[in-house]
Amino acid sequence: MRLYADAHADTFYEAALQGHDPARDDSPLHINLARMRAANQRIQVCSVFTPARYCGNEATAFAHRIIDCIDANVSARPDAFAVGESPRGQPSPIVLIPWLEGASPLAGDLALIDAFYARGVRGIGLTHNHRNEVADGCGCAEPRNGLTRFGRALVERMEELHMAVDCAHLPQPAFGEVMAMIKRPPCISHTGCRALVPITRNADDEMLRAIAQRDGFIGIDFYPGHVLEHAFAQGVRRATCDDIAAHVMHAVNVCGIEHVGFGSDFDGFADTCENLRHLGDLPNLERALRARGLNEAALERVFGLNLLEYLERAIQSPGGHAGGARPVSAGHALS
Ligand SMILES: [Zn+2]
Repeated sequence: MRLYADAHADTFYEAALQGHDPARDDSPLHINLARMRAANQRIQVCSVFTPARYCGNEATAFAHRIIDCIDANVSARPDAFAVGESPRGQPSPIVLIPWLEGASPLAGDLALIDAFYARGVRGIGLTHNHRNEVADGCGCAEPRNGLTRFGRALVERMEELHMAVDCAHLPQPAFGEVMAMIKRPPCISHTGCRALVPITRNADDEMLRAIAQRDGFIGIDFYPGHVLEHAFAQGVRRATCDDIAAHVMHAVNVCGIEHVGFGSDFDGFADTCENLRHLGDLPNLERALRARGLNEAALERVFGLNLLEYLERAIQSPGGHAGGARPVSAGHALS
């Protein structure tokens, strides 16, 4: 059976803040355990997002609070969830990979990375929309500040640790500076294609090619505002799975079929595409991709295999970890 893997969702952020239980069928979350199992989901990259109002110690503590929620879910349902790196040879539980969205929890202090690594964090989105200690984010009016000295040191340290360098939300010039220095495969965990929807948040073709050339991964997201121009303006039709499929096909045409998958961003927004209201609607996206010409082998790649293989290339532990859901130490919360 085809496996499903998701490079970005805010489910555990929402669970931590709203008290929702992802294991319950009646939770209002887009992603829950029953839908994950129905989709044959094997990997969920779990966004550890920190709102812009938190900085310094507060950002660090907030991020650990989200990871506490991931750990609590693993403890409560060890049959369902495990924090790890790869599900190879491991039909269940579903592997959860904590992943910082924005580097602000590091508070400009590289030494803080070790505590996050010890808790299973295996990727960092360098910026969110705002400027942080690493660079200008894509929401800055005119992003012009590239990587700071800290940003460069962070990318170097992440490469030493085999953490995935995630360039979602990262505009030029910082994006190009990361590409110039990076030696391991990078990713854009959740994005649309700028060629179809021309906003700074979306990746242009040059960025898509740069990621593919470095054997990286592009996750197309399900946020209407990224896949349909002016999606929320009055009089504009609702976005659908076909809009997402158009972005997948564009990315495949630019990058090749081996480098494209999904980074849903589920539970990170409220207004969904019309026929992709939650993970349970995934068959609608499959139909849209088939209608655009993807065959079963290509669907297998896009739905999960590409992300699984990318993670094996990018985050396999330097010590030669052979795969399988590996327990990582928990309980190092700073808050
Ligand atoms: Zn995001």
